[in-house]
Amino acid sequence: DQARRHRHSHERYVDGQDEQHLRQLMLIRDLQEAVDNGELWMAYQPKVDTTTGGVCQFEALMRWRHPTLGFVPPDEFIGLAERSGNIGLLSDWMLAHVCEQLYHWKRQGHHLSVAINLSASDVIDPGLPMHISELFESYDLTPDQLALEVTESAVMQDVEAATETLMALSQMGLKIAVDDYGTGYSSLAQIKRLPVDELKIDKSFVLKLDTQQEDLTIVRSTIEMGHHLGLKIVAEGVENSASAEILSQLRCDYLQGYWIAKPMPADAITGWLDEFKPLQLSAVAIN
Ligand code: C2E
Ligand code: MG
Ligand code: MG
Ligand code: MG
Repeated sequence: DQARRHRHSHERYVDGQDEQHLRQLMLIRDLQEAVDNGELWMAYQPKVDTTTGGVCQFEALMRWRHPTLGFVPPDEFIGLAERSGNIGLLSDWMLAHVCEQLYHWKRQGHHLSVAINLSASDVIDPGLPMHISELFESYDLTPDQLALEVTESAVMQDVEAATETLMALSQMGLKIAVDDYGTGYSSLAQIKRLPVDELKIDKSFVLKLDTQQEDLTIVRSTIEMGHHLGLKIVAEGVENSASAEILSQLRCDYLQGYWIAKPMPADAITGWLDEFKPLQLSAVAIN
């Protein structure tokens, strides 16, 4: 009996693993179809400048509704696409899609700026700067309209190659942010050797900023050190007004989070912008 129970629980465990494995195989298999069949779209989430209270940029975040599995979170499918060597498929689609969207917004009278997330293989791709400059040409965009977010772990996989790509993109006039800052192992000294303009403090330090003394300490010192090194600071995961006010008082440059807005589909953005009232934060200059 003991043995049977053991065997059964073992089988259940294996079943769960198999199910998970099967799902992963399905997702990898279906990536190409997702691109071809229009199952992907981009959601856009605003960032606000704490010195004006106004919107300065949107971050583009990928979304996938699988025909049978339903909504699949990017934290799941982006990682799978990276590990299976398929991320280029998604990055190419995303880049062209975002540039075309910026072109449409411009024709509607909105000169917007969008930050995109690069994966590790994008950031070491020596063809990326040329690819982006061709897209700028095709869609009549200026370098201030596109910014890049890269994680420290992506860059640290091959610092030399990443530095070369980022240097070229920086020289084209694109601003570069280190995403999820604080979750990796690199020092600010290492990061400063890269052509980086911004630090984006990971949301794990920001979500409970208003109640967790330790998070506040980490965020405060990151902002101070970052500013001393000439970097702009973005906080992601701002979920309430108390955290927004604290970040504003700490002179954090930009805020992003559900308190301002959740990621929205492209066709909701211009309407949302029309309705948006600049935030009243203590750091907002009074004219
Ligand atoms: P990320 O770039 O760090 O994006 C921030 C994540 O935090 C997004 O999750 C966003 O929806 C979420 N978020 C924003 N504000 C709040 C908030 O106030 N509270 C909470 N709890 N969460 C908030 P999402 O959209 O699920 O994306 C997850 C990750 O997937 C991204 O993290 C990014 O690393 C990756 N990703 C998304 N789109 C792309 C893409 O087009 N290309 C690549 N390479 N990666 C992408
Ligand atoms: Mg990001
Ligand atoms: Mg992040
Ligand atoms: Mg993240």
